[in-house]
Amino acid sequence: MPAVRVGLLGGTFDPPHLGHLLAATEVREALGLDAVRLVVVNDPWQKSAERRVTPAGTRLRLCAAATAADPLLVVDDVEVRLGGVTWTARTLDHLHREHPEVEFVVVLGADAASRVPTWRDGGACLRRVPVAVVDRPGAGETDLPGLLGHATRVPVTQVDVSSTEVRRRAAEGRSIAYLVPDAVRSIVERERLYRRRS
Ligand code: ATP
Ligand code: MG
Repeated sequence: MPAVRVGLLGGTFDPPHLGHLLAATEVREALGLDAVRLVVVNDPWQKSAERRVTPAGTRLRLCAAATAADPLLVVDDVEVRLGGVTWTARTLDHLHREHPEVEFVVVLGADAASRVPTWRDGGACLRRVPVAVVDRPGAGETDLPGLLGHATRVPVTQVDVSSTEVRRRAAEGRSIAYLVPDAVRSIVERERLYRRRS
């Protein structure tokens, strides 16, 4: 067994919320991982066509604020450093080169897992790495795509929060307290993120 095993939870994190943090923590505990890295997607091409995604630098700051108090949750800016649209095969190659001593475990929510076949390489890169899939409210009973046949399903506390819901509440001027860490709420309020332009 490699000395160090680290989970990778990739996402837009626009913004990060308690569902992300609790799932990451429970997967770490269940699999005995040394840490989980939140890999902030630079340009989520499947989303950026539909809505204005918050600049990557702001999303990195939000993730740093969300994880500041927890040394076992780490923000990873590799995709932002590499630039361009997300391409998980490239990200994994890069991380394996940067950290040859680490075994990375890719963590996916059930909704993300079912979309893997729509990735650029059809998710082929995931065949070579351990994968953990967590259920998520609203995702339903998802059958995993064939190429995730080797994935481990990890039960986690079901937290019905999405970034979409947080953005909607902020846009309506409603409170996002208790859905996101206080440090994230402070930034969202101070910088008036997600507010409708008047
Ligand atoms: P959006 O609503 O904008 O799509 P999101 O809440 O789905 O945002 P993402 O950044 O898209 O957040 O998700 C990153 C990863 O975290 C995905 O694998 C997703 O399935 C997982 N995830 C998000 N929210 C939860 C949750 N509440 N419970 C478990 N996993 C989650
Ligand atoms: Mg999502």
